[in-house]
Amino acid sequence: AAKRDRGGKFRFFDPDLYIAATARAQLRHSLQGALAAEQFELHYQPRVDLATGRLCSMEALLRWRHPDLGMVPPAKFIPIAEESGLIGPIGRFVIEEACHQLALWRTAGLALVPVSINVSAHQFAHEGVHAHLAMHLARHHLAGAMLEVEITESAMVAEGVDVQRELAALRELGVRLHVDDFGTGYSSLAQLQRLNMDVLKIDRAFTSELTVSPEGRVLFQAIVSMAKALDMAVVAEGVETAGQLEALVALGCDEGQGYLFAAPMPARQAGALLGRPQMMTMPARSIEMSM
Ligand code: C2E
Ligand code: MG
Ligand code: MG
Ligand code: MG
Repeated sequence: AAKRDRGGKFRFFDPDLYIAATARAQLRHSLQGALAAEQFELHYQPRVDLATGRLCSMEALLRWRHPDLGMVPPAKFIPIAEESGLIGPIGRFVIEEACHQLALWRTAGLALVPVSINVSAHQFAHEGVHAHLAMHLARHHLAGAMLEVEITESAMVAEGVDVQRELAALRELGVRLHVDDFGTGYSSLAQLQRLNMDVLKIDRAFTSELTVSPEGRVLFQAIVSMAKALDMAVVAEGVETAGQLEALVALGCDEGQGYLFAAPMPARQAGALLGRPQMMTMPARSIEMSM
C-alpha cells in the first residue's frame, strides 16, 4: 500500500511495515489452530493481603506455547484475537480452565482462594460472559465468589456493549469486579460508582513512581483516598521492591501483586502456594515513612 511519508512524497513499499504485517498475519493464522492444538495454558500470579501477608487470590494469566516461537506474550496475541473474533472461544477456554483448576485444587484437599480472570470488552460484545461463567461454576459446584473478573477502564466504557448489564449479572453470582490497570484509561468516578466496581487495581506505572518522587507518592495517596471514598478496595500492581511495599503499607493500600511476592507461575507451583498461604511477614502499618 502507498504511504505518505513526512516529506509529503509517496513511498510504495515499507519493508518494516511489510515484515510487521506479515508476522501479524502469520500469528493470526497459527492462533486459529492454537486452541484445538492445546497450546494455551493459564499461569497464576498471587495477590497478597498487605495487612497480613497472606495469599488472597490468584490472577489467571493466559500463556500461548507456540511450537516454533516459544511462549508468545498476551500483549502480542490478545489484540489479534480481539480483532479476529477468536477472543470468544479463547475467553471461554480461560473461564473453563480456571473453574477446572479450582476443582482440581479442591480435590487435592487444598484451601482455595478466588481466581481472578481478565475479560476484554470484545468478550462482552460477542457473547454472554455471564452465561458461560455461571455454567462452569455450576458444573464444578463452585460458589460465584471463587471467581473475580478484571476489566480495563476502556472495556468499562466500550461503545455498543451493554457492559453494565453483564457486570450486574456477574455481581449477582457473587463475582467480585476489578478495574484493571487503573489510571491508564479514561473512566470517570461516576462510571466506577454506576458499574459498582469492587476493587481498583492501580497500574504499575503508579507503583513504580511511588518511591521515586514525592509527587508519585501524593498521586498514589490520592487514588487510594478516592477508592476508599467510593468504598472500593485497592490493589497495587507491579510491586517489585521492599521500599514500594513499605510505602504501600503506610498509605493503607489493601493488597499488592508483583515480582516481589511472586511472578506468574504454572498451576502446579500455584497449588503449592495454596498449601502455605503465608506469603511474607509484613512490616508494621505504624512505621513512619521517610522520603
Ligand atoms: P494485566 O491483567 O494487567 O496483568 C498484569 C501483567 O503484569 C502480567 O503480564 C504480569 O505478568 C505482569 N506483572 C506482574 N507483576 C509484575 C511486576 O512486578 N513487574 C512487571 N514489570 N510486570 C508484572 P502478562 O501476563 O504478560 O499479561 C499482560 C496483559 O495481557 C494482562 O495485563 C491482561 O491485560 C492481558 N491478559 C492476560 N491474560 C488474559 C486473558 O486470559 N484474557 C484477556 N482478555 N486478557 C489477558
Ligand atoms: Mg489483570
Ligand atoms: Mg493490570
Ligand atoms: Mg494490563
